[in-house]
Amino acid sequence: MLKEKIENLKKQFLAEIEKIKPSDKALFELEKKYVGRKSEFIAILKSLKNLTPEEKKKIGELANVTKNQIWEIIKNKHAEISESSFDAKKEEIDVTIPGKKKSVGHWNPISLVRHDIENIFTSMGYEIIEGPEVETEWYNFDALNIPADHPARDMQDTFWIRQKINNKNLKEESLSMRSQTSAVQARYMEKNKPPFRIIVPGKCFRREATDTTHDHTFYQFEALVVGEKINVGNLKFTAKEFFSAFFKQDVNVRLRPSYFPFTEPSFEFDISCTVCGGSGCRTCKGGGWLELGGAGMVNQNVFASAGYLRNKYQGFAWGFGLERLAMMKYKIDDVRLFHSGDLRFVKQF
Ligand SMILES: [Zn+2]
Repeated sequence: MLKEKIENLKKQFLAEIEKIKPSDKALFELEKKYVGRKSEFIAILKSLKNLTPEEKKKIGELANVTKNQIWEIIKNKHAEISESSFDAKKEEIDVTIPGKKKSVGHWNPISLVRHDIENIFTSMGYEIIEGPEVETEWYNFDALNIPADHPARDMQDTFWIRQKINNKNLKEESLSMRSQTSAVQARYMEKNKPPFRIIVPGKCFRREATDTTHDHTFYQFEALVVGEKINVGNLKFTAKEFFSAFFKQDVNVRLRPSYFPFTEPSFEFDISCTVCGGSGCRTCKGGGWLELGGAGMVNQNVFASAGYLRNKYQGFAWGFGLERLAMMKYKIDDVRLFHSGDLRFVKQF
């Protein structure tokens, strides 16, 4: 009787599993019904204890085999269901879709220009010198012949740093963000005797309203050559050589009288228009020249501040804004773009 019951249960199970919807939930219900702890099957196995040892062995074996068969079928069905629920469309790989392009970082136009400039100058035998961006009042102004009451201080209003000096033995010194790379000239000359040729690239700061050609943070670049027989002709020649190399075309240089505290005489220097070559166009407003920077022969007061004997040496210094040069080279119309962090701008280079 138990044997028939087991066989019927199996038949019933097979019929039901054929019909169930292919879902895990329905299968779990079936599993519970036939082989779960409260299933009819378990009840049969529990009732074996009332049988004779011979019957127990015979029926027990049949019950176990059948139970294992049912388990096996359920297990296979589970696998079948999970396989059919696998959505081929979702997992499909289209090998023809173009790959995602990895974005690779690259240089800011300021760095590109700086690199170009450094290459040209080092090929002419110049050394590259750097200095601190936070500078003492002495190096930024006084040593460059700009005493506290000098009007040039207003033109170069910068950011001053509030500081506390705990050590009473130290003289309190005013610190500021340097307003010009010339501060490095003074530092360099204190430790080095002429002749020398150096270039000083670096970041400068000024407290001023920003517009398309002015920013509070900018890069300057300057060249300083000191020796016993350096003259204005050397300055003009060097500038002509440099700009011709930089713009990869013949560039002329024009000096106009100007004033800077640290040079005597001082000049503004222009270069022939790199767009029209000097014949006149919109870029140079018809004049054929582009204003570029300041230059001059180093003031003897600056040499004296560095500890050199007055009138023993002569030298020329000239400088310009890197942004100005980058704007000319890449036709950029707003200086503020360089520090804006706008990727649409930077990614063009
Ligand atoms: Zn022009």
